Amino acid sequence: MPLDSGRAWLREMVVPGAELLARLQARFDLRPAAADNPATTAKRWTFSDGRGELGIIAPVSEPFCGQCNRIRLTADGKVRTCLFGLAEHDLRSRLREGLPDPEIAAWLKGVAWQKEPQHHIGEPGFVPPPASMSCIGG
Ligand code: SF4
Repeated sequence: MPLDSGRAWLREMVVPGAELLARLQARFDLRPAAADNPATTAKRWTFSDGRGELGIIAPVSEPFCGQCNRIRLTADGKVRTCLFGLAEHDLRSRLREGLPDPEIAAWLKGVAWQKEPQHHIGEPGFVPPPASMSCIGG
């Protein structure tokens, strides 16, 4: 998604992944690292001198939602299927009801099938989640 198609605050707050990489490449000799996980969030680069590697995560300028396989469990027992979604699914109450494991597993599968196909950052009407990414588990 080109940042200029989004709202002004996006352009002010987000450094596009390509710009970040260009700035780093101007200073370091970086080579692409092999991608070992199709659901990875970071594009990884290795330093040519062998000192290590870095990863760039650019979910706004280079969304990777199509490969995302993540769900998260909050500290208060809610399952979230997207960092930038609003839906929460109450696992804690089901556990406290004493539901058997197979029922919990079936419920979790159902929740996973409701996973958002993509985030809507920058689109008209986008409402960010009330909790910060660090509270959600991002
Ligand atoms: S925005 Fe949501 S669907 Fe997209 S990668 Fe992040 S958690 Fe996954």
